[in-house]
Parts: sequence; structure tokens; C-alpha cells
Amino acid sequence: MTDPITALRARRVWDSRGVPTVEIELTAASGARGRGIAPAGASTGRREALELRDGGDVLGGRDVSMAVRLAEEIVAPALVGLDVRDQEAIDDILARLDSVDESPRGRPVGGNTTTAASLAALHAAAASRGVPAWAVLDPSPHAIPRPQIQILGGGAHAAHRTAVQDFMVMPLSAVTIQDAFLHVAEVYRTVGEVLAGRGPRRGVADEGGHWPEVSGTEDALDVLIEGIERAGLEPGVDMAISLDIAATQFAGPDGYHVQGRTLRTAEWIAELHRLCEKYPIATLEDPAGEDDLEGMQLAVANTGERTTVVGDDFLVTDAHRIAFSAGEQAVDAVLIKVNQVGTVTGAARAVAAARAHHLGVIVSARSGESEDVSVAHLAVGWGADIVKVGSITRGERTAKWNELIRIDDALGGLGLAATVRPIAGKQA
Ligand code: PEP
Ligand code: MG
Repeated sequence: MTDPITALRARRVWDSRGVPTVEIELTAASGARGRGIAPAGASTGRREALELRDGGDVLGGRDVSMAVRLAEEIVAPALVGLDVRDQEAIDDILARLDSVDESPRGRPVGGNTTTAASLAALHAAAASRGVPAWAVLDPSPHAIPRPQIQILGGGAHAAHRTAVQDFMVMPLSAVTIQDAFLHVAEVYRTVGEVLAGRGPRRGVADEGGHWPEVSGTEDALDVLIEGIERAGLEPGVDMAISLDIAATQFAGPDGYHVQGRTLRTAEWIAELHRLCEKYPIATLEDPAGEDDLEGMQLAVANTGERTTVVGDDFLVTDAHRIAFSAGEQAVDAVLIKVNQVGTVTGAARAVAAARAHHLGVIVSARSGESEDVSVAHLAVGWGADIVKVGSITRGERTAKWNELIRIDDALGGLGLAATVRPIAGKQA
């Protein structure tokens, strides 16, 4: 049965940083409806799908009135009549509308517009079939992705208080999602106590992690270890550390600018290698900048078996870059963000490319988020190893974690996925 799209409505809504973003709602002939809200990154890769923002003085140039208008004037007529259950056909049109060559008036509609429309189509298709969104992607998932949760926020998410962007933990010994969150919530609390013992606390960073009152990367890692131990958990056994270095943010033509020093690629990766030896770091995301292939390769070659090197800005959810990077042994796992590529289908192709090359898969939210819970459904439906949506505080984060708990409940309590699948780089 087909269920043609009958209407598209677009509107300006607000994200977790008080910045406008695009929401799109699709309706199909059956009456099924679906909504999607585009998230937004702060530490974006230069190869990501470009958001369409108004520019000018209002709201720092970040308003989306043009994107909303183009959604109704260009995207709506292009999608009306298509089968809402045919995600590939819808996403193919959306990708064309976001290209200079193929969009009417030569005006790309923006990756924020296509992301909102593509997510709306997924949810409308789910409503049309009478199933949850994850079931559209996989009717019988085997596991719940393991959560990777921010405890301290840094980098572009905390006014560059630390060079490193995300200090996260990942429960290892927890078998269920409920246990995982119990462990993480304890660590969030105990790390808060450790920081309180050092002086006044300064609130939270963009993704809800504690604002890092630390002297540098190693101090932050010591705080995490102290918090994990205070929670009665064993670092590396019950709880691993995950870092998103987001190195593009402090990479320059002359090297990496860290804590007043400039390090050449080999020196910087050696520094990270030393940290991976000293601390139980399970995943290391974007250790090198988005154009530093050699840095990524060195990281894969130098970090030991227990550390998985993840590509985010380096891969931008692009199936071709993933295949290339796998061949070059530049990553062990890929970060998947729908709005980096602009459509659910584009991201699904990136997941398929990762699996074809035996790379791990981490499905991720962005630092600018909303109550949209699509990422929880995508992570389960794509069979991700890990899911990353920020910290365990702030409503836009807990919306997703709580949805993951509901999905697990609906599936009768699946266990958590193994930490990460066999990974190509480390096997070679
Ligand atoms: C990330 O870098 O993985 C991240 C979630 O941050 P942002 O959305 O700012 O890119
Ligand atoms: Mg990242």
C-alpha cells in the first residue's frame, strides 16, 4: 500500500542554545503525520551539509525564516504526491533540492531544511505503518546501543575552557540500559562533588556536562577517575572514558594549539597515545583535524587494542569518505549525524559503508538540540554499537535517553550492545 504525502508545514522553532531552527511536519493521505526538527552543531566540519541561515543582524544572522519559506515554496510541492513510506525517493529529491545545480532558482534549500523534512518523513512513515520509527528501519533489533555520556563539557561547548571538547563515560559492566544510567548518574553526581570540593561550581556546558573547572586535559581525566572511584565503580572495568577531542577546533597550519603550546601532528598524537596508556580510554573521537589523514592514521596505529579511534568531522557521515578512510586505516569507527549529510538515507548509506568495512558505528546527536527524539530510534533501528547524545541533564538530552529507555521497554528489555564491534584498523 502506498500513502501519498498530502501536505508539508514548516515553522521556526528553538533549539537548546536559544537559536532558531527548522521544524517540518508532513501529513499523508491516511492522516498519518510526522515531525522532524533539525539539530545544529557548534564544532562543525567544513564538509558538512550547509545550514541555510538568514545572515544579517537579527539573532546574530542565525534566523531561519528563509529556510522555512523555501520549505513551503520549494520542498512542499516537490514532496506532495510521493509515497511517505518511500524514504529513499523522498531523500533523493531532498538531496537534489539542496544542490546548486538542481534546486529551482539555483537556491539550495539548506541541510537544516532537508534534515527536518527527512526526519519528518521517517516519523510519518512509522505512523502510516502503525509502528515505532525504529521498527521502520529494523523490525527486530538485537540490542540497545551502549550509551556514551558526557560528564564534563569543553571545547566549543564551553567557551574553549579546555581544548578537548567532550569528557564522557561509557558503562562497561552494565548489562541493561537501566543499570547503565544508574552507574552514569552516580558518576555525574560524584564528579560534581569532586568539582565542588575545588571551589564554586560554574554550571553546565552546552550538552549538560559540568562546566570544567580544571587546569587541562589530564586534570579533567583525574577528576573523572576520582568521580568513578567515589561512585564505587572500577575505572576500565565498570566504566570507561570516552573523549571527543574535536581536534579540528585547535588545528592550524603549523600544528595543534594546546595549552599554550604548538605541537606537530606526531607530537600531538604521541601525547594522546600517552593518555590512552595512562587512562582507560575506550573511544577517541577526532584525535586529528578534519584534513589530517596522517594524524588519524597515526592514532589508529599507535593507540592500543582497547582504544577505538572514531571519525566525526573527519568523515562527516559521508559513505565515500568512510570507505576511503577504512582503506587508509584512518578510523576504527564512524560517528553518524543525520544533519552532516542532510538525509536519513544518506546517513543509512554511511552506516552501511561502515559495516561493509567492519567499522564500529556510533549514532550521535548535536550540541544544539531540541525535544526531537529521532536519534534514539535511528540508533536502535540501525543497530549502532554506541549512542551519544550529551550528558544526563537538560531536557533535550534526557528526552533522547528516556526514549531509549522506552524503546528498550517496548522490546522487552534487550541487553546492551557489546562495547564496539570487531574493528578493521585494529585487526590488521
Ligand atoms: C560532536 O562533535 O560530536 C558534537 C556532538 O558536537 P557538535 O554538535 O557541536 O558538532
Ligand atoms: Mg565530535
